[in-house]
Amino acid sequence: MSCLFCRIIAGEIPATKVAETEQFIAFRDITPQAPLHVLIVPRKHISTLNDLTPSDDALVGAMTREAAAIAKAHGYDTSGYRTVFNCNQDAGQAVFHIHLHLLAGRSLAWPPG
Ligand code: AMP
Ligand code: ZN
Repeated sequence: MSCLFCRIIAGEIPATKVAETEQFIAFRDITPQAPLHVLIVPRKHISTLNDLTPSDDALVGAMTREAAAIAKAHGYDTSGYRTVFNCNQDAGQAVFHIHLHLLAGRSLAWPPG
């Protein structure tokens, strides 16, 4: 299995999990870009946002609500946080298994670089 995040999901590569459900897992980003940087990753391999189908709508909705729940659990619901899906080269997607970034704990610039 060559996909890094599929290997994390399979338990072959360690990660610091913060949440998991039947549909997805959430773990700390190995190179955090903010005091809280979590990746919410579906157990199902989906390469990019371009590959989503209507059958994934509930999955993506649940991942988004999990990001909000993790932000709230860490006390950032009022101060704020950012959620990001990077898609393909211009967005800097490095791992081709979709993942929702949750960033919080500092003021985040807009527009992003
Ligand atoms: P992206 O650029 O959106 O594809 O983001 C990939 C993210 O995965 C980056 O923020 C990396 O720091 C993160 N990452 C890469 N390898 C690992 C790993 N083994 N455990 C946790 N996060 C990782
Ligand atoms: Zn994968």
